[in-house]
Amino acid sequence: MRKLSFFLVLAIIGLTFTVVSAQPRSTFVTIGTGGITGVYYPTGGAIAKMVNRTKKEHNIRAVVESTGGSVFNIDAIVAGKIEFGLVQSDRQFQAVNGLAEWEDRGPQTTLRAVFSIHPEAVTLIAAADSGIKNIRDLKGKHVNIGNPGSGQRQNAIDALTAAGIDYQKDLNAESFRAIDAPGMLQDKQIDAFFYTVGHPSGAIKEATSGARKVLIANITHVEKLLDKFPYYTEASIPIKLYPGAVNEKDIQSIGVKATLVTSAAVPDDVVYSLTKAVFENFDDFKKLHPAYSSITKENMLTGLSAPMHPGAMRYFKEAGLQ
Ligand code: GLU
Repeated sequence: MRKLSFFLVLAIIGLTFTVVSAQPRSTFVTIGTGGITGVYYPTGGAIAKMVNRTKKEHNIRAVVESTGGSVFNIDAIVAGKIEFGLVQSDRQFQAVNGLAEWEDRGPQTTLRAVFSIHPEAVTLIAAADSGIKNIRDLKGKHVNIGNPGSGQRQNAIDALTAAGIDYQKDLNAESFRAIDAPGMLQDKQIDAFFYTVGHPSGAIKEATSGARKVLIANITHVEKLLDKFPYYTEASIPIKLYPGAVNEKDIQSIGVKATLVTSAAVPDDVVYSLTKAVFENFDDFKKLHPAYSSITKENMLTGLSAPMHPGAMRYFKEAGLQ
C-alpha cells in the first residue's frame, strides 16, 4: 500500500511537471516612456494594461520603464535594449531621416512606426516674478531646455531660434530632466522651463500649484518654423486645465504628436497583438488619461514617418483602417 502511494505521488509530480513545462513561456516586452510626471509614463501603463488584460490570447506581458524621453527611447529600441517606446513625431522623423541627434549616425533604418496617440504642446512654464510672458522675454534668463535624451530639448532650441534667441549665448541654458524642473522653479533655481508634453500633465500641475506663482508663456513668432518643419503644427493649451497658473487666456504654442515606435527586429505577432489589444479596447483605453480626449482610431494612424511595422499593418488592414 505504501509502495503504491509512493508511486502515485511520483506519478502526480511527473504529471504536474509535464503540464507546467508544456505551457509556452511568456514573451516579455518593455515599453520605454519618460519621467513619471509626464504623460508618456501613464501612456505606457495604459498600453501595457490593454496587452496584459488580453494575455491569454497572445501570451505577451508588457512592462513599462521610466526613461529620459524620446531620444533615449529611439536609441534604446535601435540597440535592441527595449522593444517599444513612446517618442515625439518630430523625433521619429529626425531619426528616420538622420537629422538632429542622428546627423552623425545617419538614418535609423530599423525604426518602425506602430501608431500615434495624444497631441503634445511645446510648453514654456515661467515664474510670474521673472517678468516672462512670451518666449521673447527669455533673453538673459535661467532656462531649463531639457536633458539630452528628451524630446523637448530640440523643440526648445527651435522655438528659441525662431524667436531670435541663441540658446548658447543669449540665455543661461540648463539640461535638467522635466521631472526635476517644477521643484527647481519653485526653489528659484531657474526662471522657466520647456516641456513638450500632453495636457493635462502631472509636471505642469506640480509647477503651477506651489507658493511661487507660475504662468504658461506664449510661444509666438513660429510662422517660419511651421513653414520649415513638416512636423510642427499650431497648438493651444486650455488654461482651464491648470487652475493654479496665473494666465487668464488659453496659451498659444506649437505642437507635435506622441507616437509609439518599435524595431524591425520585433516579431510581427508581437506588434500585431499589442496593436490589436489597444484598438479592440479603444473605448477603455481612451478613458485612461484626459490627454486622450481628441484621439480617434483614424487619427492614431497619422503623424508617423517611419515605415509601419508589418505586424501593425496586418491589424490595420484586418480592421479596415488601412
Ligand atoms: N515629449 C517628452 C519627450 O519626448 C516626454 C513627455 C512625457 O513624458 O509625457 O521626452
